[in-house]
Amino acid sequence: MFRASVLTLFPEMFPGPLGLSLAGRALGEVWHLDTHAIRDFATDRHRTVDDTPAGGGPGMVMKADVLARAIDHASPADDPRPRLYMSPRGRPLTQGFVRELAAGPGAVILCGRFEGVDERLIAARGLTEISIGDYVLSGGELAALVLLDAVVRLLPGVMGHAASGTEESFETGLLEYPHYTRPQVFEGLTIPEILVSGDHARIARWRRAEAERLTRERRPDLWAKRGG
Ligand code: SAH
Repeated sequence: MFRASVLTLFPEMFPGPLGLSLAGRALGEVWHLDTHAIRDFATDRHRTVDDTPAGGGPGMVMKADVLARAIDHASPADDPRPRLYMSPRGRPLTQGFVRELAAGPGAVILCGRFEGVDERLIAARGLTEISIGDYVLSGGELAALVLLDAVVRLLPGVMGHAASGTEESFETGLLEYPHYTRPQVFEGLTIPEILVSGDHARIARWRRAEAERLTRERRPDLWAKRGG
């Protein structure tokens, strides 16, 4: 069972959308989720989790001592699971890393808020920073949900059709070819003739060529990486 532990100021945000559809049906069966309210690990009367940044400047910083207690509670020292901190400064999330996570025992995921977390915590608890893209969210929760959605759908038994995990965008280093379904004519547009020809070899060649064309046109960065 893939075990996800999420540390957040807003545990009500979980499982959220992951409680629905394929991921929701698999929750408790092939993956497990526990959430830990960071505020429960504050020790003062006001349950303080943040403080002003050393050196001045705007915003607040999440306190290392409170976060360390939350992590130690959710993930003992011998926990084999990677500890992730969702962060715009992190390593960009890729399908390759998603696959790696899905093959492992789970993940401990820290969601930041405000300006982020005290830098010392990242080293002290061996956190790997992961970014879901070059934009800034108001908190790590949506980023954690994105990461978990991508992982959970790869877990055995979650998706109906095993092949649909491997033919998709990024799995082959290419964007996926276009899809069509009935009706045969939609607003005067027809399904490409090849796809209704029944000639599976030609269909495979056409899909390959379309995937390459789309990747070249839309993602020259991916195309260059393939040496295309
Ligand atoms: N001051 C920080 C941004 C803080 S945003 C900076 O400029 O780098 C608040 C929290 O949202 C972060 O601690 C992080 O957990 C989350 N977050 C924001 N953008 C994110 C992204 N692109 N990927 C993953 N997490 C993100």
